Amino acid sequence: MSGNWDWNNWRAQFRNRIQTVEALKEYIQVSPEEEKAIRKSEGLYRWAVTPYYASLMDPNDPNCPIRLQALPTAEELVPNMYSDVDPVGDMKYRVTNRIIHKYPDRIVMLVTEQCSVYCRHCTRKYHTTDVNGTYFERQEAESFEEDFKYIEKHPEIRDVLLTGGDPLTYSDERLEHIISRLRSIPHVEIIRIGTRYPVLLPQRITKEFCEMLEKYHPVWLNTHFNHPKEITEESARACDLLLKHGVPVQNQSVLLKGINDDLETMKALLHGLLKIRVRPYYLYHCDNVTGVSHFMTPLEKGLEILRGLVGFTTGFAIPTYVLTTINGKIPISLDTIISYTEEGLTLRSYEGKETFIPYLQHQVTVRSEV
Ligand SMILES: *Cc1c(COP(=O)(O)O)cnc(C)c1O
Ligand code: SF4
Repeated sequence: MSGNWDWNNWRAQFRNRIQTVEALKEYIQVSPEEEKAIRKSEGLYRWAVTPYYASLMDPNDPNCPIRLQALPTAEELVPNMYSDVDPVGDMKYRVTNRIIHKYPDRIVMLVTEQCSVYCRHCTRKYHTTDVNGTYFERQEAESFEEDFKYIEKHPEIRDVLLTGGDPLTYSDERLEHIISRLRSIPHVEIIRIGTRYPVLLPQRITKEFCEMLEKYHPVWLNTHFNHPKEITEESARACDLLLKHGVPVQNQSVLLKGINDDLETMKALLHGLLKIRVRPYYLYHCDNVTGVSHFMTPLEKGLEILRGLVGFTTGFAIPTYVLTTINGKIPISLDTIISYTEEGLTLRSYEGKETFIPYLQHQVTVRSEV
């Protein structure tokens, strides 16, 4: 299927991305619905799939979780009444062409609007997948100097998160220019990269790239696996290489209807991640983004999954379930406090057992007096 190009070369993978129904047919049995949706989304939403990611698709099942994440569907084009292109207020917090400054001590820097695959559920769909949208005030090609100057003028910024789009779409040289410039700012303690390349085009994670990152530590990397099928030999190799170069790799998933919204799939994903030494960080409740609404689940679904995980599996396999709002991310946790009175505290255990701890406040007082 790889014709006369090198499957393991990431640039060749990128250049040979699938962008027509005809090319897609070399990988899967394209359903009439998929074909119709691809044609209807033309001029509205981008789509592109790396040959590597397409090779993970089930050729015979249109409900394959890889297909659902990467190929346009009719639902995407039906607007939901309450959806918005920017429900979490990225625009509201934009301070420069690229910087979103929402929390006091850390910022997001939108490096690019390009990705290797255009995920149908992208929370910045307006910026990445929407043909006519962008969060850039000016162009992507604009100099980064204004953004760097903003960080320099704000000593409270200790954590810079590079995202997009997917920053790894840029060459190592371009990325090194950005990362080394950030490293020259003394108050920037950590640099974080948000990228889906380990999942969508793991060949991008080369030895040269990791050696470049290593020069600018501490560098952290957050990736985005949503389904156990995405954990392959290649993606494991990419994560291993990053880890071997001292880059901690964490995962941020989105809870997606029909893809990973059941306990068994989620457990297989989380356990698979631990096996490749990737730490589950966040499980995002799906935002009501225009063109993404059909992937939303009820909040109760996330809580049900959480109830099936807490206590039943390794503590650090469990991501924090969060809902992103205009006021920041808000964690949704299990309600374990049944009552809290003078007599003591009654808690609910992971198996649902009422657990009473007497005179909690009294004990704390006595201890502090010793
Ligand atoms: C998610 C996010 C961050 C980082 O938040 P953490 O909870 O530290 O991972 C920073 N800025 C914006 C705008 C974000 O959406
Ligand atoms: S790679 Fe990330 S930024 Fe790009 S479309 Fe997918 S989720 Fe969005």
